[in-house]
Amino acid sequence: MNADDGATSSKPAWRWLGGLQPLRKSRSLLWALLVLLVGSSLVLLIWLAGRYESSAAQERLEAYTADLATQMRQGMSRNLRSLQALQPDRDPAWQAHAHELLQQRRELIRVEWRDTELRPDRVSDSPYRPPAFESFDRSLSAADVGLACRAAQRFNAPAYSNSYFVPQSNGMGLELMDVCLPLMATGQLIGFTVATYALNDMLSELLGAQLTRGHAVSFAEADGTRLAMYGSAGSGRRLFVAQQLVDLSGNTLVLRLESRQGTADLFPNLLTALVTAMTLALCVVLLMLVRDMRRRLKVEHDLAEALAFRKAMENSLNTGLRARDLEGRITYVNPAFCQMVGVRAEELLHHRASPAPYWPPELANVYQDRQTFRMANKALPRGGHESVFMRSDGTRFPVLIIEAPLINALGKHTGWMSAVLDLSEQKRAEEISRASQDRLQATARLAMVGEMASLLSHELNQPLAAISSYANGSLNVLRDTQAALLTGTPEQRRLSGDLEMALRRIAEQAGRAGKVIKSVHDFVRRREQKREAVQPMDLIDAIMPLVSLQARKLGVRVVITAEPSCPQVLCDPTMVEQVLLNLARNGMQAMQAVPEQASDRVLHLRVQRSGKNGVEFSVTDVGEGIAEEVASQLFTPFFTTKDEGMGLGLSLCRTVVEQHGSSLSFKAHPPRGTVFAFTLSAATPDSPPPSQAALTPRLPAFFKP
Ligand code: ADP
Repeated sequence: MNADDGATSSKPAWRWLGGLQPLRKSRSLLWALLVLLVGSSLVLLIWLAGRYESSAAQERLEAYTADLATQMRQGMSRNLRSLQALQPDRDPAWQAHAHELLQQRRELIRVEWRDTELRPDRVSDSPYRPPAFESFDRSLSAADVGLACRAAQRFNAPAYSNSYFVPQSNGMGLELMDVCLPLMATGQLIGFTVATYALNDMLSELLGAQLTRGHAVSFAEADGTRLAMYGSAGSGRRLFVAQQLVDLSGNTLVLRLESRQGTADLFPNLLTALVTAMTLALCVVLLMLVRDMRRRLKVEHDLAEALAFRKAMENSLNTGLRARDLEGRITYVNPAFCQMVGVRAEELLHHRASPAPYWPPELANVYQDRQTFRMANKALPRGGHESVFMRSDGTRFPVLIIEAPLINALGKHTGWMSAVLDLSEQKRAEEISRASQDRLQATARLAMVGEMASLLSHELNQPLAAISSYANGSLNVLRDTQAALLTGTPEQRRLSGDLEMALRRIAEQAGRAGKVIKSVHDFVRRREQKREAVQPMDLIDAIMPLVSLQARKLGVRVVITAEPSCPQVLCDPTMVEQVLLNLARNGMQAMQAVPEQASDRVLHLRVQRSGKNGVEFSVTDVGEGIAEEVASQLFTPFFTTKDEGMGLGLSLCRTVVEQHGSSLSFKAHPPRGTVFAFTLSAATPDSPPPSQAALTPRLPAFFKP
């Protein structure tokens, strides 16, 4: 990638990243807001819960105080009833009953019977403590008692005095309160029963049994001064206080309850702690979920990438991929497979197991059996197996199928995966390679034949030269002795003439044979062949002696047709003669295969003009004709249908004709037979004239035995 590419390709990425920045910012803002919200809701929750808890505790305390006040009132009413039962005028055992009462009610420390002038008549002190007024003059509290008794007398009902402090001999003191009950007899006041309460003992005796731990109960004045107290308020940090008025005739006591509670800390109660813990746990779970989601997203992204990569890989593959389930139904195919068989994926997927649309119908049974066997035995050939598939257009093609079991993520065998390779190209390449191998072999054999021909021509040159020399020598000798022979008998003279003629022919033919050999040698060595201007009919004439000889032998009639205006042609006459001779021979041999009357066997040699500057030579027979399978190999070296044939004739003929710039063609000759033809170009005025030897009858063809 060059610098420009880098610049252009990175631009969108930056843009993308730029677009991501505000997104990230707003996401962090959202997160901060969420944390703030959760935090403030938690604080609010804790505060509200604390407040609720406090008010609940306060309410509980208020209710408790009310209970205690009721309890206190009940206890005092009960005491009043007991005091009213003390009748000194009728009860001689007043003292004993008063004592008994003081024994039972510890909150009462003294009971007095006073006359109408409020003078103490009888007195009984509590057996549980030293007499309260031992070191304190009782008369000092007379005013309070007097007020209470006068009020009692006025209303004819019990009345209470204000509380007052009485110091004790032990340095401590007691807060006391008197209750005065007027005693009437026949409508006349006869005296007062005065009972003295110790406020401390009132609290402990009347409420002590009910008071729970962590509570302090006290009597207080309206300004908050504590008069007496019982119990402990506990050690908590928060102090809860509740008050109740205990209304008594002549006095009103304030009952005050205190309780310290230490739980009003961060989490006032279990519920708040639970809610807080659950919220925090929720946050942690949320965070974990976000992390998990991120991880999932990453995994999904990676998975999508891997999937895209796999898809691209599958699409780029030339190999067909096919997955089948255990019933043989196709569950997956890649594009290469669809392309291979020419069927769309939708038509293949979940198609019933068999026959598959790409099975050739004639092989469907075999494939079906094979599939059933494989799936039952789970036996797959290692390295795959070859098969034949059918395209949608019906053409068959060879394939190599390599199969492997499909194992899912749980390790269960769910089907089969096959890789399918189209072997058409490979087979074609093999075919081409085999053909070229054959051609190579043929070429090698041809080269060998060429070598042999070259060797032969070299070897034959010597004896032919010797024959020619001997024939010429013999002619010379004959000429020298001719004078002597002139005197001989006519028979001797005729014999001498014949001998001379024969010797001349021997010398000529030996010379001609030498030329043929040289031509062959040149042909094999591919040297520059000589070209001469020759009359077309001369070429025919040159082969006629040999053609006639064979025609007579095979019972063939030879017909020659020549256009008189044919110009001279430029060629290597020796070679062209051999071509004509070879074609004529093939034609005559082809006619042998046809069982016909000899008169029907006609070989037609024709010479005619072709175009402006050409002369066409054709050889027509009425033989068996050339079958299609023979036609395709006609010019292949060493191809022959004859027992004694070499299969080189036509191949060499074509080479010779092509060397003359033409082509050797053939076609059927209706109704029977074949026409072989080639064209030679006409000679130009500056073409070399024919040599003498070219116009003389020729030696037997070198192409044919
Ligand atoms: P050969 O004659 O030695 O067999 P050729 O190359 O001349 O070799 O011929 C090759 C084959 O071509 C022959 O074997 C014959 O089958 C076929 N052939 C050649 N000419 C003819 C023809 N005129 N008619 C029928 N078949 C022919």
